[in-house]
Amino acid sequence: MMNRRRFLSAAAAGAALVARGPNVFAQAATYDLIIRGGRVIDPSLRIDAIRDVAIVQGRIAAVEAGIAGKAAATLDARGKLVVPGLIDIHTHTARTKEGPGLVLADGVTGWIDAGSLGADKIGDTVAVARTSPQQGRVLVNIGREGILPDGDTMNIARADTGALRDAIAAHRDFVVGVKARLSAGVAGENDDEVLRRAQEVASSFNLPVMIHMGQSRSPLPRLLDRLKPGDIVSHMFAPPPNAIIDDNGRILPEVLAARRRGVWFDVGNGQNGHMRWDTIEAIMKTGFWPDTFSTDWTATSRTSGVIDFPNCMSKLLSFGMTAPQAIACATTNAARTFAVFRDRGTLNVGAVADVALLELRDGNFEFLDNYNNKRTGNQRFFPGGTVLNGRQVQRS
Ligand SMILES: [Zn+2]
Repeated sequence: MMNRRRFLSAAAAGAALVARGPNVFAQAATYDLIIRGGRVIDPSLRIDAIRDVAIVQGRIAAVEAGIAGKAAATLDARGKLVVPGLIDIHTHTARTKEGPGLVLADGVTGWIDAGSLGADKIGDTVAVARTSPQQGRVLVNIGREGILPDGDTMNIARADTGALRDAIAAHRDFVVGVKARLSAGVAGENDDEVLRRAQEVASSFNLPVMIHMGQSRSPLPRLLDRLKPGDIVSHMFAPPPNAIIDDNGRILPEVLAARRRGVWFDVGNGQNGHMRWDTIEAIMKTGFWPDTFSTDWTATSRTSGVIDFPNCMSKLLSFGMTAPQAIACATTNAARTFAVFRDRGTLNVGAVADVALLELRDGNFEFLDNYNNKRTGNQRFFPGGTVLNGRQVQRS
């Protein structure tokens, strides 16, 4: 959410504009862009209805039915969903220069690179974030060499707090947190100590920690105990050992307590070990649903079970989640996680005009978990266009 003063001044600007419309001179309002006739779903405004969205100078000027007035450009959204720009809080978008443009075409107008690199090379992901067309920020991996095939922090010396501190201090504008990958294949026996170190440094900068949970050596409650409000647990559907649910289908009390104190639970689709349909089904049945979706996107996602963010958003529709609830996870909720997104995830008048168009198709769609198990759903979101800062993004 944008801060109140900014919202009020922006709203006033929007109102002044609209007031120019049906006045005595019958002079029509002039907009830069009107997105016409789509099904606007904005959980932040509790709207789910056919509306036009008018944009002036990169900001939302009106969300109304049948907006009169001229526009320099019109976008026909009939038959499509019109939602706030998608925010993907766990990606590896900054690993390549092309990443930001690729996810932008999927409707992603904000992304977090979640620990692709550590202190030694953090400047590389920061450089991609700096030149990204949409908002992109990075988490520093507590392992100073970043993601390693043989485990980021299998050697505990790589969890170097001094190097981490220096990396954050050097890139305070683009580093928005610390990533700690804690599964046995990544941190081995070091998981708890790795998280302790990550938290020590992150807290000293008042930044969140995102953990990669699942198949850890330490019991999950011990790790959760180190998380503060605003921290993020990614891969919440990871199957045992050390899932968020026990063998009797009960969410661990420590997991419930973590959510109560403000720890976020994120999907983190990914490709290996992070989601299996039976675990998802058991967790969804308890009513402990995700706060946010995320893809764990990489350049190879197109040909894996990830495909794109709208595809990942579709996977829980067959477990009882509604389209507006899924959209909330990818917009309104995601905007609350990192400060950089707090004025995004909404089509409120005055907000930055980041908009995703989606197609919600009916049919038989095959979805993959991370274990090559297929599941058929009868609805799927597809990317249908992106508007960034009020301008239409051309699909390449
Ligand atoms: Zn990841």
